[in-house]
Amino acid sequence: MTIEEYRVALAAYLAGEPALQRWRGQHYATVPEQLAAHTELIRLLYDGGWNRYGWPVAAGGLGGDERYRAVLYDELSARDLPVPGPHLLLETLGPAVTHFAPRLSATYLPRFLSGEEWWGQGFSEPEAGSDLAALRCRARRDNDHYVLNGQKLWTSYGFGAARLVCLVRTGTTESRHRGLSMIMVDADAPGITVRPITLASGRAELAEVFLDDVRVPADRLVGAEGQGWAVAMHLLQWERGMYSWLSSTVLLSRLRALRDQLVSRTSLSDGTVRRFGQVYLDVVALRSRSATTVRRLAMGETIGPEASIDKILLATAEQGVYDAARDLLAPSVDVGSDVSAADWRAEWWYSRAATILGGSAEVQRGILADRVLALPGERS
Ligand SMILES: Cc1cc2nc3c(=O)[nH]c(=O)nc-3n(C[C@H](O)[C@H](O)[C@H](O)COP(=O)(O)OP(=O)(O)OC[C@H]3O[C@@H](n4cnc5c(N)ncnc54)[C@H](O)[C@@H]3O)c2cc1C
Repeated sequence: MTIEEYRVALAAYLAGEPALQRWRGQHYATVPEQLAAHTELIRLLYDGGWNRYGWPVAAGGLGGDERYRAVLYDELSARDLPVPGPHLLLETLGPAVTHFAPRLSATYLPRFLSGEEWWGQGFSEPEAGSDLAALRCRARRDNDHYVLNGQKLWTSYGFGAARLVCLVRTGTTESRHRGLSMIMVDADAPGITVRPITLASGRAELAEVFLDDVRVPADRLVGAEGQGWAVAMHLLQWERGMYSWLSSTVLLSRLRALRDQLVSRTSLSDGTVRRFGQVYLDVVALRSRSATTVRRLAMGETIGPEASIDKILLATAEQGVYDAARDLLAPSVDVGSDVSAADWRAEWWYSRAATILGGSAEVQRGILADRVLALPGERS
């Protein structure tokens, strides 16, 4: 199916399928409730083949490139359906696992695509976030296994994830990024404890993971031993590029909801219209950039450090939209007890993290200054 045929067929399906109605306008009070509902939506999309486009046949997909996935997110959001939460991790981890460990993706990606399981990203640690090369979670080789010890932190949807794709240290502590490896770990392996972290919003979206003498077969490596940094850099192109596109589709749909709430009022001030226009432009700027990135990824180009531009535009647009909703609908987002206010509130809280997750805004600007613009360093 060509990309144009796919869009037309998908749009017709999403508009006409009565079974999809149960996911429209739903409010989920807790993250486990949301994930249970979203994995059922993934199952339905899988049964119809819709979320299998854009993934290799060998990994349970139906072939095609990133543009098919971009169209899926665009159409879901345009039809008032949620982009299923686990797809955020699918876009982050799926391409790297498929590229560097095709055997693992042949076994496990079909389960992810069918909603049977999702994976968590185990990179950050208490002392390693922006400075990821400082991570200390150790993997010691023991014949045909690695034995893992350490802690991971801020794992999105980590509670309930079936597998954790972890960046671990196989070299010496001093080896920094040269001594890292990527490995896929079963979350139910003996020695793993996953604890949900409840955020200021009251929602437990993240988790901390403790690994105590966890034995992982050596054939679970993603890439070769010592290649972890290269795998992580490859992965970041999707974590910052495709993730930004996916998020832009959600932002557009939320802007439509905000518009509908605003126009139901008797009058709108010039200031309200101007503010709405400004955040709309932020989202359009994000989408223009992000569409180019998706096309480049689809053509097999390397985006490299330029993906930081997408990440900064995303953080700006995301915080802009939810700040505008909070201000323009005041005081309902802060104190409203209806479902719509609860949703805006949860999203506003989450948008605070937009300048932190996947690499902080300051660090992205540093990458652009050093590696894209090649600006001279600061003089002491
Ligand atoms: C909602 C959310 C979801 C997340 N999901 C995941 C996940 O699924 N998996 C995962 O592994 N991690 C995840 N993270 C962790 C995230 O990647 C880290 O929080 C992020 O990389 C920043 O690291 P840190 O929190 O250790 O902050 P730090 O690195 O300690 O940074 C603290 C402050 O110092 C600034 N700073 C640090 N270094 C520099 C520098 N060189 N130049 C300028 N300023 C600097 C930062 O911008 C920041 O303001 C998530 C985080 C959040 C908030």
